[in-house]
Amino acid sequence: MPSQYGMRQKAQRRLRILHLFKAREMVTLAVLAVSLLVTYRIWEGAERSAQQNLSTAFDFRVRESNIRIEQRLAIYEQILRATVGLFASADTVTRSEFRAFVSSLSLPEMFPGIEGVGLSLIVLPEQRDAHVAAVRAEGFPEYDIRPPGKRDFLTSIVYLEPFFGRNLRAFGYDMFSEPNRRAAMEEARDGGTAAISSKVVLIQESGSEVQDGFLMYLPVYRNNEPRSSVEQRRTSIMGWVYAPFRMDDFMRGVNGSLADDLDVEIYDGELVTPAARMYDSHEDRDATSPESRHKRVGYIQAGSRTWTVVTSALPEFDIRMQSDRPKLILQSGISISLLVALLIWLFLDDRARALQAADQAMQLALYDALTGLPNRKLLEERLGVELAKARRDRSQVALLFIDLDKFKPVNDNFGHAYGDLLLKEVAKRLQSCMRESDTASRLGGDEFVALLSGVEDDEAMLRVADKILRALTEPYDIAGHTFHISASIGAAVYPHDGSDAKSLIRSADMAMYAAKNAGRANVKRAERPA
Ligand code: GH3
Ligand code: MG
Repeated sequence: MPSQYGMRQKAQRRLRILHLFKAREMVTLAVLAVSLLVTYRIWEGAERSAQQNLSTAFDFRVRESNIRIEQRLAIYEQILRATVGLFASADTVTRSEFRAFVSSLSLPEMFPGIEGVGLSLIVLPEQRDAHVAAVRAEGFPEYDIRPPGKRDFLTSIVYLEPFFGRNLRAFGYDMFSEPNRRAAMEEARDGGTAAISSKVVLIQESGSEVQDGFLMYLPVYRNNEPRSSVEQRRTSIMGWVYAPFRMDDFMRGVNGSLADDLDVEIYDGELVTPAARMYDSHEDRDATSPESRHKRVGYIQAGSRTWTVVTSALPEFDIRMQSDRPKLILQSGISISLLVALLIWLFLDDRARALQAADQAMQLALYDALTGLPNRKLLEERLGVELAKARRDRSQVALLFIDLDKFKPVNDNFGHAYGDLLLKEVAKRLQSCMRESDTASRLGGDEFVALLSGVEDDEAMLRVADKILRALTEPYDIAGHTFHISASIGAAVYPHDGSDAKSLIRSADMAMYAAKNAGRANVKRAERPA
């Protein structure tokens, strides 16, 4: 067992190693936390710029989509203007001429959004019967102006090409009788411009798959009649060239395959209400699906009408456009952080182990393996320190050299193991007789040394020596056996019996021999010259 001084040192060492292990955990966690924080910051920046890019890309797509709608409307207006030109070139345009012209436009192939191009002719009430009879004579015996009934002002869709399928249903329809269409027709007539109707259901629609639609009108005035004022235009108007549009078909023509990642809703007017909605590219989209992060409201000028276009990105847009960079940064950042933390953990472990090993080695180098007491080397070191202090303070240092009496027989009679246990017990008793600032040491075999610092005089020293002698002479109960031994103690004092460690130890050693020679179990002081 080490002295209390030694025990304290040992405890401090243990605490240091424990601190080192604790520090290892803290340092590793700190490094991990810092590198994760750095990763998070970099990821955050990358994510923000990716979102900005996404938002820019979305804005671009929305603008592109809206421009396409406006361009389509402009193209259709041009087609109607060309058709009006047909009427400007001749006073009468026959059904077959009209058909030949429209079919030359290749509408289904070139302009899939347009349902057809037609002529709505003004029929004066007094000419109604003659008009109906003339058309019937062309080979349409069922023809009549619809809806029936007397009206001051009548119009009739007389031409509508291509003249088959759904379009047949519009033949003879008086569009002026319906307020929405009438408003656009009047606008076109009075302004001499193209006009677009509000949202309508086309007369072409049958019961199934009904779509919303709109109509575009251009006025046709009689040739060679003045048309510079509203009044003149109202007088010279002969009818309207027009085109019906079904919204879904129109938008298919506009966006093509581009639109599968954008949800486009078009509202007639400037209010976004269910009643005003005329188009929704993803009608079947689950209403409970989360609100898109990208959504823009734009306006399109369709003639004098305003369409409100609400565009939102579908999840497909994010998936298609999203950058992998933030995710890669996050993944590799976390991996690198973990790796660095692991390396630091292992590195610090090696360091802790190395220090622990060094500590153990130091323990072996400076302490006696059996009793744990300081060995000769450490004793000499401490003695040197104490002597230097005593020299400064002009104080005294005492050294007690202790050799057990008749120890060998314990080994011989009971075995080495009993001898060892006895030596350990001796060490314990020796320590218990000393102050904390003193050092008990084992030099080897059955030789011990007690280093007493700051003893006032020889008497004080001899009192301690006696105390030790009495303690060591007490019977020892070891593993069921009782042993009786004693010790011979030689005492030397600095500065009287030696000026340095070596000479002081030698003096104490010689005094111990004197004690042996004096019959053992006693204390002898080093001899001094008289
Ligand atoms: P004396 O009274 O003259 O001191 O005789 P002694 O029997 O005590 O013998 P001595 O001091 O000359 O020798 C010490 C003996 O202690 C020698 C050796 O057998 C024994 N010894 C030395 N080291 C150890 C040890 O580590 N363990 C044990 N059990 N015995 C040891
Ligand atoms: Mg001995």
